Amino acid sequence: MKLSNLWNEKSVTLSFEVFPPKKDTDFDTVRFAAEQIAELKPDFMSVTYGAGGGTSAYTAEIARILQAGHKVPALAHLTCVSSSRDRIHQELEHLKAAGIENILALRGDYPPGYDPNAPRDYRYAYELVKEIKAFGGFAIGAACYPECHVESRSHEEDLLHLKEKVDCGVDFLTTQMFFDNSALYSFLWKAQRLGIKVPVLAGIMPVTNAAQMTRILSLSGTTLPNRFRMILDKFRDRPDAMKQAGIVYASEQMVDLVANGIRGVHVYTMNKPDVAAALMENLSKVLGR
Ligand code: FAD
Repeated sequence: MKLSNLWNEKSVTLSFEVFPPKKDTDFDTVRFAAEQIAELKPDFMSVTYGAGGGTSAYTAEIARILQAGHKVPALAHLTCVSSSRDRIHQELEHLKAAGIENILALRGDYPPGYDPNAPRDYRYAYELVKEIKAFGGFAIGAACYPECHVESRSHEEDLLHLKEKVDCGVDFLTTQMFFDNSALYSFLWKAQRLGIKVPVLAGIMPVTNAAQMTRILSLSGTTLPNRFRMILDKFRDRPDAMKQAGIVYASEQMVDLVANGIRGVHVYTMNKPDVAAALMENLSKVLGR
């Protein structure tokens, strides 16, 4: 199923993200976790892609299993900054053969030692969006950043680039994680004023491990509201309490987002079926499931 049709049928969607195994020996563990999450019957699931190779070979395979084995539409992530045009075409053929109809088109982070001035086939995600559009047969999603992409000089510049990207053929957007819903509302207002009309799915990260969070935040440019910082500080050394508090915080964010008319909530599950199940349980009636 092409996800571009999903929002004609549903007023609000719930989707889950998983990441593929980092090494061959992890495949069965990841597959088991992804399948358990699929059993919760989200509207779709996304599978991330390793920018520098690494886990990329498994993205299509996990996506295929979710779709063929569990009837959950799959969204395969694809990054371009480290790839040649030929490689991207091979990936598109591979995804098509696996029955995947949806791609999240990303630039990817620069790998260590990357030389931005060296000649290359892709510099920005919009070029990949164009490539996929020309190839045909896929609904195309892209990333956006309510608190601005870390490399951008200003929100305005970031939003103008986002508008250019969407105009190349993007069907929907998924946001970077955020912990203060007002950051998203302000971003949505500015995006609408620029004429960005595609559905924007809110990326929600239920934080269950405070140490891991500190690392992720330093890379993503996401800010922590005081209310959430207090929670992290209070429970960082009590894993069970941190997990419970993280799920409650994410649930409250989601209730507020649905009440404010968001088109979809996309949960970064970190491959944790129990966390996905707890959110599904907390939100089932709110999401009309
Ligand atoms: P772009 O849209 O190309 O933007 C990158 C930067 O370039 C921005 O600052 C933008 O403003 C600027 N820019 C864009 N166009 C131009 C232009 N024409 N001229 C000048 N500047 C421009 N990474 C992975 O490796 N694998 C994944 O699976 C993955 N999944 C992700 C999913 C989501 C929902 C999100 C939010 C991020 C994900 N990432 C993933 C991380 C992503 O690859 C990085 O954030 C990356 O740094 C930017 O990717 P992008 O597609 O947003 O890039």
